[in-house]
Amino acid sequence: MLIGCPKEIKNREYRVGLTPESVRELVRHGHQLWVETGAGMGIGARDDQYLAAGATIVDTAAEIFRECEMVVKVKEPQAEERAQLHAGQILYTYLHLAPDPEQTADLVNSGVTAIAYETVTGPGGTLPLLKPMSQVAGRMSIQAGATALEKVHGGRGVLLGGVPGVMPGKVLVIGGGVVGFNAAQMATGLGADVTIMDRSPDVLERVGTHFESRAKTRFSNHANLEEAVAEADLVIGAVLIPGAAAPKLVTEDMVRSMKSGAVLVDVAIDQGGCFETSRATTHDDPTYVVDGVVHYCVANMPGAVARTSTYALNNVTLPHALQIAGLGWRTALRTDPHLAAGLNVHDGHVVYPAVAHELGYKL
Ligand code: NAD
Repeated sequence: MLIGCPKEIKNREYRVGLTPESVRELVRHGHQLWVETGAGMGIGARDDQYLAAGATIVDTAAEIFRECEMVVKVKEPQAEERAQLHAGQILYTYLHLAPDPEQTADLVNSGVTAIAYETVTGPGGTLPLLKPMSQVAGRMSIQAGATALEKVHGGRGVLLGGVPGVMPGKVLVIGGGVVGFNAAQMATGLGADVTIMDRSPDVLERVGTHFESRAKTRFSNHANLEEAVAEADLVIGAVLIPGAAAPKLVTEDMVRSMKSGAVLVDVAIDQGGCFETSRATTHDDPTYVVDGVVHYCVANMPGAVARTSTYALNNVTLPHALQIAGLGWRTALRTDPHLAAGLNVHDGHVVYPAVAHELGYKL
């Protein structure tokens, strides 16, 4: 199959759909790869590395959109990219169509076959192509929080790990799922005093068994949150209620009760945030202060570590890319129901029920 990887054009997107290593793997399986010149620049992957992996470097994305049977990307296609997609072509990338009627209409009109990373499923209802970004954001949240705690960044001047003779910082992680687990791993690794709160007894048991004495677990309810938030130096918001806006678990009153210079990192901001005082920020201007409490609410945290994020993403997207290219998309989807769950748009129709329902398309 002729597979193309254009350079991402969304503002501040540094990731790339295929690493040179992924290109090499696809070439080894007999496929032809076109990569736009400079596509890997944001992660430090040069054209000559793609060439060495067996790709052809092309000058423009237009050549890829015109000729390639499958286009592999990271972010949803932007308007100028959508205008070049066509029937018979496969688009394999993150799409997030439900809140995006404009993009959906363009994909429907293009006739493209669009497979969305975020709806490909795994065993037990998991979303394996979303998971690495939660892992990255969870791990980053402690890095971001530790930096914000520094005095020059508005924080209370606390070193999370403490030093011999001085108590470590108190980290409260609300939500013990993928983000929360990874945040707790980083925080315990630094030697912080870590508490993980969740409302699921199974999750509390799992993280309790994993972290043993390195982290405390506590049931998440209003009274316990009120107490724990007031004591914390750093609070990580990592809750998710699938398909719904994040619950505002930390109220304005709780924020007011916090120590001056304490830090909130609201990872759940992409679902509206779980602190009442949260509003989305960007990597250019990541923090703001409310009642003396520093808020970090960047909606696309993984973008800051584009290289790690690209490799983590490729680890999970490449096996399916090989399936689609090797078997053809019809057979690949027929033989793998988890991959089939990724199909969102085909031949002028929205075929993913939740998107069709949300945007009023007939299935
Ligand atoms: P997950 O489903 O693995 O975990 C969510 C956890 O929240 C679950 O364990 C659940 O039991 C818990 N929870 C739900 N309600 C709760 C409550 N009232 N109190 C305490 N815990 C509660 O989800 P995840 O992958 O960890 O993602 C968490 C959030 O991070 C999501 O909103 C996700 O979209 C977001 N995220 C943001 C970024 C970013 O760049 N900002 C990147 C990746 C993920």
